[in-house]
Amino acid sequence: MDFKPANNIQDLQYFGEFGGVNPSISDSSTYTFLSAKTMFDTFEGNAEGCYLYSRHSSPSNLYLGEALAAMEGTETATVTASGMGAITPVLLQLCGSGEHVVSSRTIYGGTYAFLKNFAPRLGIQTSFVDITKLDVVEAAITDKTKVLYCESVSNPLLEVADIKGLAQLAKKHNLKLVVDNTFSPLSISPAKLGADVVIHSLTKFINGSSDTVGGVVCGTQELIDQLRNVNDGAAMLLGSTMDSLRSASVLKNLRTLHIRMQQHSYNAKYLAEKFENDGLKTVYPGLQSHPSHALFKSMMNDKYGFGGMMTIDVGSLDKANALMELMQEQNLGYLAVSLGFYKTLFSAPGSSTSSEIPEEEQQEMGLSDGLIRFSIGLDADIERTYKMMRACMEKLNIL
Ligand SMILES: *Cc1c(COP(=O)(O)O)cnc(C)c1O
Repeated sequence: MDFKPANNIQDLQYFGEFGGVNPSISDSSTYTFLSAKTMFDTFEGNAEGCYLYSRHSSPSNLYLGEALAAMEGTETATVTASGMGAITPVLLQLCGSGEHVVSSRTIYGGTYAFLKNFAPRLGIQTSFVDITKLDVVEAAITDKTKVLYCESVSNPLLEVADIKGLAQLAKKHNLKLVVDNTFSPLSISPAKLGADVVIHSLTKFINGSSDTVGGVVCGTQELIDQLRNVNDGAAMLLGSTMDSLRSASVLKNLRTLHIRMQQHSYNAKYLAEKFENDGLKTVYPGLQSHPSHALFKSMMNDKYGFGGMMTIDVGSLDKANALMELMQEQNLGYLAVSLGFYKTLFSAPGSSTSSEIPEEEQQEMGLSDGLIRFSIGLDADIERTYKMMRACMEKLNIL
């Protein structure tokens, strides 16, 4: 069957308890049982369709999880209270003391900090590698390695992972390939390319309204059951459960994701092309000049474009800060971390979202001081935005 991620969401049919067009929100932490035996069976994991306690699962969370699994083309999914609340349980479920992770070195700052500073306390070691070089990735694999970890499009450098190539490596060495797809929902479908587990921070594009944090793990029924197991499941026991009211609201926002992604991608491509033409050092996977442009193209679901994230390098942190302040003053966006909002958001990753990464490592990976990361908004008139941004840059002698 043709895999069309947005249709897969659209084609789900959920009714509310009283025929409402939205599913009813499960506003309960605990659930009654008609017989004591069913309660026992549910604890043992043998009572399909029965709810026990909302840290384990709830109808609203299952609805959202199913929709996200449909989008990613995985058997099922479990939603969590934040993106980090999805990432850390997966890593801890798949790796124990004495075991090893091979991870991209350009990943979300929080994930990097977890693997670098926290996981070693539990005896889990990580090798950070240049994920774009498959030979380097393979050389880092040892007989203790359990997980290959990357982001489809990396934060903040927008490096693109060769998911098919990495999936082959994972298969060959009997590892699980875990892909954080937060930057490229709909555009890239990692599970279809061979990833075992797909994670999102729902906080970003998927929810899209910067009003909550949230996360999801999409994978096999077996993995999701393990994560939720009452005896040894990391999601269940670490307790990063999403609240039902929130999952209902994220589900409503998910329905317009395909329209939003097209606009984010259209606007970002427009600005990236203009800025590059103006002579600015611009990184966007949709530009021919991007080292992985062809790779992204080979993996993408065309319709949704190359995503809403781009970076420019204006030479120094002082200039970056001045430009961001001026753009905010002109109401061209907000000086804020995070992404996927209707307004453009900008920040200097070296001193903010990636500040967990030591300075010399930042330099080595090409994360320079003057780098500004943009999450391009849904601006209705992107030409006007460009002209106004250009005026800001001219005023500050950046252009
Ligand atoms: C924001 C982000 C996360 C963490 O998600 P939270 O919802 O903030 O916990 C993980 N990965 C990427 C790529 C992100 O952008």
